[in-house]
Amino acid sequence: QQQDEKESMFMVSKYTAQWFHDQLKTGEGKAVGYSYFKERGFSDETIEFFQLGYSPDNWSALTDAAIKAGYKLEFLEKTGLTIVKEDKQFDRFKGRVMFPIRSMSGRVLGFGGRILDSSKKAAKYLNSPQSEIYDKSKVLYGIYEAKQAIAKEDLCYLVEGYTDVIQLYQAGVQNVVSSSGTALTTDQIRLISRLTKNITVLYDGDAAGMRAAIRGIDLILEAGMNVRVCTFPEGEDPDSFAKSHTQSEIQEFLSENAVDFIRFKSSLLKDEAAGDPIKKASMIREIVQSIAKIPDDISREIFVRESAEILEIGEDVLFSTLAQVRNASV
Ligand code: ATP
Ligand code: MN
Ligand code: MN
Ligand code: MN
Repeated sequence: QQQDEKESMFMVSKYTAQWFHDQLKTGEGKAVGYSYFKERGFSDETIEFFQLGYSPDNWSALTDAAIKAGYKLEFLEKTGLTIVKEDKQFDRFKGRVMFPIRSMSGRVLGFGGRILDSSKKAAKYLNSPQSEIYDKSKVLYGIYEAKQAIAKEDLCYLVEGYTDVIQLYQAGVQNVVSSSGTALTTDQIRLISRLTKNITVLYDGDAAGMRAAIRGIDLILEAGMNVRVCTFPEGEDPDSFAKSHTQSEIQEFLSENAVDFIRFKSSLLKDEAAGDPIKKASMIREIVQSIAKIPDDISREIFVRESAEILEIGEDVLFSTLAQVRNASV
């Protein structure tokens, strides 16, 4: 029974991804949606590969089409594609360009939709609501498209947004996924760790990106994975950077600027605490919190030595703080 229900939700999601995609070929979808993607620099091949689409600016165009094609309103509602209010039906994503979100095996689980005009009041991105088939804490945008490249390169780039994944992929950096603006979860890390133990986080060159880069990374360390961080020049994100550089320039930038996370965090904290002893104490505890998550004894020791050097404090202070933190958490 429940399995049948999920199956029906998968079917209507698959139909919808194709329907949104088909909208790009004619009328409003072509004039508005297709041109939007073109302006962002996405090629036809890229638009096909990611099955990008458009949801018409009409109260119920998708809902009407799906029902006409034989899909039940019940499952349109359960997947969140249709909102039912007082016996009226509305398309959730009306007037947005659409990004289908797939599982590792390629099934459409949900959608992200971007508004065309950022100056409008509505949220820039809207995602499918939680449902029996879509759990935002368990999906990674691009995982289906990137999984082979991740295994082959033995490295996964993690970015913030849909367009970062797409633009990097188009530029030839194909081992890339996005957590779509949310902090990384253990379930998402588990998906990646099936393919590689190496993650490089590429976050936007702004304060929010910097904070996001730090948040959630302790979870990756806890999973015993190697984490590096690469930040972009102020005001740039992987999308804008990839758009204005060649594949070899991007590869070069990534390999030159990716630094080990513990080193990254130590330097960041050091700058923040410069000349402030109280801050410095809390900073030591913070960095040790991260190191304490690393399961491997030898790695932990190496990182303690490195951090001590960066922070210009004695190794013994860090080792004793580490022992305290680890004892407290057992
Ligand atoms: P774009 O280049 O299209 O303007 P972006 O991907 O650079 O978008 P950011 O503002 O950097 O957008 O946000 C990163 C990611 O966070 C987005 O791709 C999206 O998944 C998510 N996000 C951003 N704004 C919202 C929002 N208002 N509601 C839900 N998710 C959001
Ligand atoms: Mn097509
Ligand atoms: Mn961004
Ligand atoms: Mn962007």
